[in-house]
Amino acid sequence: MTDTLASIDIRELVEACATMISAHADELTALDQAIGDGDHGYNMRRGFDALLAEADALAAKPLPDALKAAGTKLVMTVGGASGPLFGTFLMALGKDMPASPDRSAFAAAFARAVDAVAARGKSEAGQKTMLDVLYPARDALAAGRSAAEIAAVADAAAEATVPMKALRGRASFLGDRSIGHMDPGSRSSALLVRTVAETLGA
Ligand code: ADP
Ligand code: MG
Repeated sequence: MTDTLASIDIRELVEACATMISAHADELTALDQAIGDGDHGYNMRRGFDALLAEADALAAKPLPDALKAAGTKLVMTVGGASGPLFGTFLMALGKDMPASPDRSAFAAAFARAVDAVAARGKSEAGQKTMLDVLYPARDALAAGRSAAEIAAVADAAAEATVPMKALRGRASFLGDRSIGHMDPGSRSSALLVRTVAETLGA
């Protein structure tokens, strides 16, 4: 990622995220079928398609307002546990984001948005949730890693949820039977981290 992110293209980001989620919706659903109720891919595709439908309106807003509006939209359209959590992430990101952030302002806002997800979900690292990708992504971003490195960290972090036992969300109902499967929200988070990192540039 470059030091200055002044040229954030909201439309490009929305399109890239929606394309990524759509391309992996079946995979996300299969992951959720293994340890949840099998709706994660559909939920996420519905939400990101809704963002895509509003891409023009979002792109017309200053970045903080666009993030808050996108977060509100995700809460309304994704549903499940993940909708309010991803929505909280974007709303918190918008709250702390300057209109033209440099890298350190972006990283600081990202860190506070991850904390907002943890507060909303009453969850922490190590519980086999999206936080197990968001925290390492936060750290890679803060450490000045390149987009490719941040994406690799996020992929590895999602992979690292496989041996974990779920302690939050629907998968926690399975107890030990949640072990051996990747957390769906970690996978979707890794896909989105990769997309945003690559779109904002190395
Ligand atoms: P639901 O579980 O309601 O069907 P989804 O399938 O859309 O919702 O999303 C499930 C994902 O949400 C999980 O894989 C996990 O990553 C995330 N999740 C669930 N509960 C929490 C929580 N309390 N904190 C953080 N993430 C959570
Ligand atoms: Mg589900």
